Amino acid sequence: SLSDKLSSVFKKLRGKGKLTEQDIKEAMREVRMALLEADVNYKVAKDFIADVTQRAMGQEVMESLTPAQQVIKIVNEELTRLMGGDEAARIHIKSKPPTIIMMCGLQGAGKTTHCAKLAKRFLKEGHRPLLVACDIYRPAAVDQLCVVGAQAGAPVFKLDGAKPEEIARRAVMHAKDHGNDIVILDTAGRLHVDEELMAELGRIKQTVPVDETLLVIDAMAGQDAVNVAKSFGESTGLDGVILTKLDGDTRGGSALSVRAVTGKPIKFAGVGEKLDDLEVFHPARMASRILGMGDVLTLIEKAQDTADAKKAEETARRLMENKFDMNDMLDQLAQLKKMGGAGALVSMLPGLAGKVDMDEINESKAFVHIEAIIQSMTPAEREKPSIIDPKRKRRIAAGSGTKVEDVNRLLRQFEQMSKMMKQLKKNPKKFGRGGFGR
Ligand code: GDP
Ligand code: MG
Repeated sequence: SLSDKLSSVFKKLRGKGKLTEQDIKEAMREVRMALLEADVNYKVAKDFIADVTQRAMGQEVMESLTPAQQVIKIVNEELTRLMGGDEAARIHIKSKPPTIIMMCGLQGAGKTTHCAKLAKRFLKEGHRPLLVACDIYRPAAVDQLCVVGAQAGAPVFKLDGAKPEEIARRAVMHAKDHGNDIVILDTAGRLHVDEELMAELGRIKQTVPVDETLLVIDAMAGQDAVNVAKSFGESTGLDGVILTKLDGDTRGGSALSVRAVTGKPIKFAGVGEKLDDLEVFHPARMASRILGMGDVLTLIEKAQDTADAKKAEETARRLMENKFDMNDMLDQLAQLKKMGGAGALVSMLPGLAGKVDMDEINESKAFVHIEAIIQSMTPAEREKPSIIDPKRKRRIAAGSGTKVEDVNRLLRQFEQMSKMMKQLKKNPKKFGRGGFGR
């Protein structure tokens, strides 16, 4: 799926540490292919990649300590923007009733089903919706609306032998008489977009003051659905889109293209055949879903450099106060590992770089060892490693699957670090940008 493909692109990026322009270009080429395979409109994909690339090549990313995570963050933000930004698009309910909603779309897109889904939702919110059967060409269509209307608990207005615009006009009168504050018009569909259908929708709009024209499109139709949206938008004038059958669409392409192609927001998403299977469409949430939620989202959160900087500051403060202990060292190591290179502490205090044996710490195998060793210590030992006697050293080595000499080496490194902290405290000028000891 799109999520899987994007995840694998980002995994590759994360494995790299510092990124070159070539790395970013290559990753973006893969993202573009994944989008096209997901049936995203060609031009939408092209523009999207151009935007992301431009931002990703910027200084903030290239100079960041976590470039790959910055790239993922940018992709997430641009995906969100592509689908309409942070806010969910709502249906505006007029203070002077009734608010008239017209559902339109091709046959089988889910209009009738979604009339009832909306009605059920409005009922829950305390409204009194009226469903209106304007699809007069198939008797079964009226019956279907009556069935789903009854399931939703909403009344259905029908009128035999009248034209759709006349039914709409009478329904609005009925709503006013019966205190229905929302009128939902279920209209006819066709197999393809045609002028007759557009003309019919136009006549309804000329007869009653439609407040919301919602286009219902089937996500599984991919780019076809988006093209339908485009032609409806040009001839009828749309206020928004309901994207249905998102539960069956594994590619996700239509959700990504609709907004960019039509300029209209997706307001709701249909995620199943049942009447409760309706979701308000949140671009940001959809973007997270496409990015594969779980691990990627946490990475984005981790990418907040400010958080890392704060932690480093806290460590630095503790260093100054001579409170540096094994727990801080463990924190630092975690940071180092995450950044795949120079840690926040080292970059904040450049003088340290040459003094502590970072090469040794930097070897990823050593990382694992050190973490395991520290984790095998008791809290008291972590705070004050000088209390660790030979017997405890053997225990710790056994507990962490290392040798006593590994434990000794780590304790030496810690000793080295602490000593420097003391010097640092006594003579902070020595640690200027120019390096330690000059
Ligand atoms: P209409 O011709 O546009 O009125 O479409 P219908 O409302 O009759 O729906 C056509 C078919 O799609 C029906 O079998 C619905 O149950 C099904 N359907 C509608 N919405 C969804 C949805 O969000 N998910 C799934 N899986 N099926 C849906
Ligand atoms: Mg129908």
